[in-house]
Amino acid sequence: MEHPKYAFFEGQIVPFGEAKVGVLTHALNYGTAVFGGIRGYWNDQQQRLYIFRPIDHYQRFIQSTRLLSMELEYSPERLCELTLELLRKERYQRDIYIRPLAYKADELIGVRLHNLRDALSIVALPFDRYMKNDDHAHVTVSSWRRVDDNMIPARGKISGAYVNSSLIKTDAYRSGFDEAIVLNQDGHISEGSAMNVFIVRNGTMITPAITDNILEGITRRSIIELAREELKIPVVERPIDRSELYICDELFLTGTAAQVTAVTRVDHRPIGNGEMGPVTASLRELYAGIVRAQNPKYMHWTVLV
Ligand code: PMP
Repeated sequence: MEHPKYAFFEGQIVPFGEAKVGVLTHALNYGTAVFGGIRGYWNDQQQRLYIFRPIDHYQRFIQSTRLLSMELEYSPERLCELTLELLRKERYQRDIYIRPLAYKADELIGVRLHNLRDALSIVALPFDRYMKNDDHAHVTVSSWRRVDDNMIPARGKISGAYVNSSLIKTDAYRSGFDEAIVLNQDGHISEGSAMNVFIVRNGTMITPAITDNILEGITRRSIIELAREELKIPVVERPIDRSELYICDELFLTGTAAQVTAVTRVDHRPIGNGEMGPVTASLRELYAGIVRAQNPKYMHWTVLV
């Protein structure tokens, strides 16, 4: 992996190699950190870099910090400015991924959230495709369950909760699948290891509600709006049964990293005719243009670096 040249760390932009924490850091020992994942897209024609929905991402980031009783003095707008400052120094001319992290920074022993110092770092690195087969993925239903709201809230992007995601992903990978879909405690579909889930049945798009132990995805929100506004397809948020995955017409995953990933097989069963469906294909194309600031109607979703 190509390393960034700089990082925002301890209140200023420093050389990347100086952005380091000690082994006793609370967040490293107890998972008491929250993070974000934002993409920047290079528009080759314009020779410009755009960030996709950074304010929305930073609003969720701040909500995540609240779940861990953190007190950061940054607004979403300020975090966006800091990110732009960092990117103007990095001068990337390619697609990138931005990783803000808020973490319990004290080096001590003690399981708690209170009376600890909160710190912030931001780095940006080169980034291309996340899912290898993003136009024909084969997924399984994980034997793991999603963390419950009363265990570790899935609506926060909490570092410790990504042990759950990692268990889900690695077992799927080692069994030969591209990704896994995980059920929540009551046996309904929750999400992928790092992406939200949509199915299409009889011309309606269906996705689990935000009370089904999912991360409230920014891509999910964007795709719901695009389906309704551009494709004029109804979108319903409701519990999805596992067996609906096996009989749906289309299935796709959404996420900043995964973008719109077409799933064409679940547990060795073909979805629809076993090829990417028309709704998935249309949304992939729309989304790909919008994130690169090539669609005048959705320029407000992108921020120029
Ligand atoms: N669920 C989980 C668990 C995730 O980690 C992600 C990636 N951030 C998503 C869903 C998708 O969210 P977003 O579209 O905001 O990237």
